[in-house]
Amino acid sequence: MTRHIETKMIHSHFNRKQHEGSLSHPLYQTSTFVFDSAEQGEARFAGDESGYMYSRLGNPTVNELETKMADLEDGEAAVAFGSGMGAVTGVLMHLLNSSDHVLVTEGVYGCTYGFLELFQDKYGIQYDLIAMDNEAQLKKYLRPETKVLYVETPINPTMKLVDLTMVIEFAKENGLKVVVDNTFSSPYLQKPITLGADFVVHSATKYIGGHGDVIAGVAIGPEEEMRTIRMTSLKDVGAVLGAFDAWLLLRGLKTLAVRMDRHCDNAELIFNQLKDSRFIEDIIYPGDENYKQYDIARNQMKKPGGMISFEIKGGKTAAQRFLNELKLCKVAVSLGDTETLIQHPASMTHAVVPAENRMKMGIRDSLLRISVGLEHHEDIWADIHQALEKSAE
Ligand SMILES: *Cc1c(COP(=O)(O)O)cnc(C)c1O
Repeated sequence: MTRHIETKMIHSHFNRKQHEGSLSHPLYQTSTFVFDSAEQGEARFAGDESGYMYSRLGNPTVNELETKMADLEDGEAAVAFGSGMGAVTGVLMHLLNSSDHVLVTEGVYGCTYGFLELFQDKYGIQYDLIAMDNEAQLKKYLRPETKVLYVETPINPTMKLVDLTMVIEFAKENGLKVVVDNTFSSPYLQKPITLGADFVVHSATKYIGGHGDVIAGVAIGPEEEMRTIRMTSLKDVGAVLGAFDAWLLLRGLKTLAVRMDRHCDNAELIFNQLKDSRFIEDIIYPGDENYKQYDIARNQMKKPGGMISFEIKGGKTAAQRFLNELKLCKVAVSLGDTETLIQHPASMTHAVVPAENRMKMGIRDSLLRISVGLEHHEDIWADIHQALEKSAE
């Protein structure tokens, strides 16, 4: 019987007998590895003998994390990076050559957009940002040079969803590789590879680490291609993950399922309070039965996640006043941490997006985003409630 994901998050793959029976994974805080002989060094660099050489090329603690992440996403292999952007760019650099074209979900993470702009200017890689609502729209933007379909779902901060089964089917019919940024869901809530996606990328900074103390990324995909990515986008470009950061992620992963359950439960409880508040105009949460994409969420996510966005009455002035009145919840970007984090996308995460495009994406000045944390939900709500009341004064 294959084990359940909750069990896989906890148990390790390293050979305990070689490590004094250590229950926890050992931390190999070393830059390099000593060879027994000149011949062994030669054999390792030639690839004739397996073993470590230098931590940019591989490190046992980092490898332990990679094995675990591949296992959790039901992929063949994983490569860890020094940030989520390392993973995003590592996979895209591998898949795209100059003059290729990529279809990207509208509202994609800001720095992913920044990377696409950079590579368009420098290397002629073309892209189109599209909603991916239906097949007709995908068809309209498909070109002979299109190689990759890059998907984020749910999309930050508007919580728009993309139907993974639909876009993956379209990609298969047209010979495109599918990359899914699964940061918002984690493998506990959504597993794109089991639906046919080729690659999954994560900002492990968020739910995977879960404690707000590390910047990291992971990419998961077919073994052969991940080997190429390791030897090029990782080894030669250099966004490597440090051993201690990998160790922190392994520790975070052990509680991922428990944390996600609580994030999701708390988000649902906060949603139920917030939706009836007279201080708000609108609320977006994939677990809302009235949400237009509720069915997509139900089909492809185990639970609706820990993120809620809402529009406050009174525009930017009220939004900023609300943030300034928060006491328990923290005003910060990032997400997936134990602390409840609230931010104002129009002036923070999406400030670089021109105002006109922001409006088109639904990121108005009244929009606020909550990453619901693990505090008691009554305390979270009490803080949000008192700040809402003061914001209207
Ligand atoms: C944070 C984030 C990234 C970038 O990850 P870093 O670890 O900050 O480099 C990419 N995609 C999504 C959806 C994110 O939330």
